[in-house]
Amino acid sequence: MNTSGKSVQPYAETWLKNLRQIERCTWCGDDTERLHKDGLCSACKRREVHASTVKKATEMMPPTVTDFDRRQQMRELRIAETMVDLCKQDGEELNLILNEEIFGSINLEESLNCVAYAVCHQRDFYNDYATGLGWALSRDQCRILAYLLWKATLVNRKRRRRAMVASH
Ligand SMILES: [Zn+2]
Repeated sequence: MNTSGKSVQPYAETWLKNLRQIERCTWCGDDTERLHKDGLCSACKRREVHASTVKKATEMMPPTVTDFDRRQQMRELRIAETMVDLCKQDGEELNLILNEEIFGSINLEESLNCVAYAVCHQRDFYNDYATGLGWALSRDQCRILAYLLWKATLVNRKRRRRAMVASH
């Protein structure tokens, strides 16, 4: 209740509701560009087309192809499929942050650690913060902070996908 006697929804709750309604890429969760008819952003669409092209080429390989070429083709296919998985992982992480019941302050701690790693290459910078974060913030507030961190690092992850696959 506020001073005028009307009940007011907590700000975090309203913000979250709006975030959940935004139209996003069905794979990576990006909301910054126009989507294709099938709901994919242009980066995910490129991955989808590439993966299906490589898959077809793999299936069409003649039996006479050399072992070397076969291995090269299989590697290309593995890379293309892993790129698709990485796109989908971003969306799954976003879904966890915005919607999943199991989300908690430990996930916010992980998000902070991811940012710390991106900024100063320290993966355990925020270890043991989860309990304090859980005391200080409601779960909705944790979700919003984790969302902002996810969003801030998405551009970086999109750019680095190929390098991430190559290092697998
Ligand atoms: Zn996408």
